[in-house]
Amino acid sequence: MEKTLVLIKPDAFSKHHVGDIIKRYEEEGLRIVAMKEVKMDEHLASLHYEEHIGRPYYGDLVGFMTSGPILAMVLEGEDAITRVRRLNGKTNPKDAEEGTIRKLYAANGSRNAVHASDSPESAAREIKNFFSAMEIFDETYTIPD
Ligand code: ADP
Ligand code: MG
Repeated sequence: MEKTLVLIKPDAFSKHHVGDIIKRYEEEGLRIVAMKEVKMDEHLASLHYEEHIGRPYYGDLVGFMTSGPILAMVLEGEDAITRVRRLNGKTNPKDAEEGTIRKLYAANGSRNAVHASDSPESAAREIKNFFSAMEIFDETYTIPD
């Protein structure tokens, strides 16, 4: 089953949108297989956003992502990567479809409420930056009686 990394960014966290956002993923039928609150530091930011290092907005992005708590989670489901990015909407809320998480909760294209992996390769890399294997309850896990 496909897994994806989702981050609820400091803007949405500080505005108390965590519960509303998680509800959207649960209503979509995705399973939360790992979750924790994280204080991102500059090192973790450089690992997570490695392909953005050197871009003009990189300093601002790291400043924002290290500014307060984030909620990190791994979601699992059929086609989870595409489905989560569809629910999140386009990077800039101006371009995002009505009803998407970014349309509802993002202020602009940098303070944009959520992150989600964009491919199976980035999902595998990103999940490892945040979670150890023992923190992930994947499809092999069943609830005991
Ligand atoms: P996405 O998060 O939709 O995958 P990108 O991978 O292109 O988008 O960018 C990663 C993050 O970097 C964005 O979510 C946003 O927070 C920030 N970002 C991207 N482009 C810009 C920009 N031009 N100005 C400011 N911040 C940006
Ligand atoms: Mg991206």
